[in-house]
Amino acid sequence: MKRLLLVGGGHAQLAVLQALARRRPHGVEAVLLTPSPWQWYSGMLPGWMAGHYRAEDCRIDLRALADAAGVRLCLASAIALDAERRMLLDDTGTTHDFDLLALDVGSLVDTRALDALPTDALLAVKPLEAFIAAWPQRLAMARAGQLRRLAVVGGGAAGVELVLAAAEAFRRAGCAVALALVAPPGGLLAGHAEGARWRVLRRLTAAGIALHPARARGTPAGLELVDAGCDAPTTLPADCVIAATGAHAPPWTQSSGLACDAAGWVMVDAGHRSVSHPFIHAAGDVCTRADPGFARSGVHAVHAGPVLAANLLAALAGGPASAPVRSYRPRPRSLYLIASGPRHAIASWGRWSAEGRWVWRWKDRIDRGFIARHRRAAIVPV
Ligand SMILES: Cc1cc2nc3c(=O)[nH]c(=O)nc-3n(C[C@H](O)[C@H](O)[C@H](O)COP(=O)(O)OP(=O)(O)OC[C@H]3O[C@@H](n4cnc5c(N)ncnc54)[C@H](O)[C@@H]3O)c2cc1C
Repeated sequence: MKRLLLVGGGHAQLAVLQALARRRPHGVEAVLLTPSPWQWYSGMLPGWMAGHYRAEDCRIDLRALADAAGVRLCLASAIALDAERRMLLDDTGTTHDFDLLALDVGSLVDTRALDALPTDALLAVKPLEAFIAAWPQRLAMARAGQLRRLAVVGGGAAGVELVLAAAEAFRRAGCAVALALVAPPGGLLAGHAEGARWRVLRRLTAAGIALHPARARGTPAGLELVDAGCDAPTTLPADCVIAATGAHAPPWTQSSGLACDAAGWVMVDAGHRSVSHPFIHAAGDVCTRADPGFARSGVHAVHAGPVLAANLLAALAGGPASAPVRSYRPRPRSLYLIASGPRHAIASWGRWSAEGRWVWRWKDRIDRGFIARHRRAAIVPV
């Protein structure tokens, strides 16, 4: 009996569960270790915050997918890995041994610069489960007049979406909350086209959101902003700070014995196998590749999924350990559809950009389709 351990129910792992449901290899015992029975879909999170979706619209039932695949679901988080000894420890104290391991645990938010804020003032966007549990309380506080100033730190697409979604949520709730977006100088939608940036700036202005091009530092009294052109930091009072400050690797990858880069991301080849331990595969945010254009995004995690699945199945079938059967080649550019508040979205693809309600409808169709596909897969393997 071979033991296949799937850790993290992320975007790529969904394809593995579907592949196992279609073709269950003999003599394999498979376990999915993940902290929640739901996989939350980050693409719909801003729409949920803004009030366009219910929570149940934005999540995939991992238990149903695992059942369909004959995989045992174990609700816990990995906290340590010994790659050499093929052992993984979870936060209940249970150890799991494996012949083959697939990691798709995503990433955490890098909050190091903000950690001095009072604990109840700082809300990291990841883990998504924790954010989804906390946001309705913040909205209730705003309704009760206990939250009057909210700042989002992070100038990437996620930070932009979150601050515009918060503006829409407060508008719908009739709450007067002062909103700010803090992005490092030159860091607003870095890597996107100038046109997309201008469209975002227009939306921020229309929603009354103050943009601060500065580096933010948390203090017990609020945010301190350090602007490149200014010697003394300025203060930005905030009752709630949402951190969307870039991805941070899980703390246990670097001590696992796996080859990782300096930031702790697991280094994989084009077949998404560890470059040091080929019986360990990894996809999604947790891994890194040498290829240009490979970024941390849901798009890459989704597209790497079928490759991860094919190579795991080949390894289970006893194929040659040195040759993965499939490779994932990232496209040079990805399409980003940025939700911008009231059922409106901005499209950004290379140097092209567009916006409007039609872009929202396009995004809505893609996102609902993604969820529906995985719901169907739990009933009829596709
Ligand atoms: C607001 C927001 C909007 C975004 N919108 C987009 C978008 O429109 N398009 C896009 O391409 N990207 C988007 N992203 C980025 C996207 O969320 C990530 O790149 C993507 O989720 C990565 O997928 P993943 O499979 O690596 O991890 P995830 O989807 O984060 O899944 C990780 C899984 O592992 C589980 N897990 C975590 N830690 C452990 C552990 N220690 N042990 C076991 N299980 C664990 C989690 O519960 C989860 O099930 C957005 C991000 C945010 C914050």
